[in-house]
Amino acid sequence: MDHVVPVLEGGGENIENLALACFHCNRRKSNNRTANDPETSTVVSLFNPRLQPWSEHFTWSGDGLYVMPLTATGRATVVLLQLNRERIVEIRRADVEVRRHPPEGDPVNR
Ligand SMILES: [Zn+2]
Repeated sequence: MDHVVPVLEGGGENIENLALACFHCNRRKSNNRTANDPETSTVVSLFNPRLQPWSEHFTWSGDGLYVMPLTATGRATVVLLQLNRERIVEIRRADVEVRRHPPEGDPVNR
């Protein structure tokens, strides 16, 4: 499953090996493929958006502001990429106000 190789480690720049990400998330991900799950203190694979469905690993908080991990992979990914950092939460808050967030079809923890 973990056949996506970071460009820094010689992975291809073809679309099958890349995922669209903002500069800040991309920088945090760097060449990591795994990270520590804070709940079990084990090293697990990061979420791979090209291979794994978002809804199996994450949901949104009821207000749409926070990514709520559902799995070890989800928890490790949220921590490594700091997916609930203040800046991005404020962007989500503005998007919620104009009904642009959460994305349609994403699970929300009601
Ligand atoms: Zn980002």
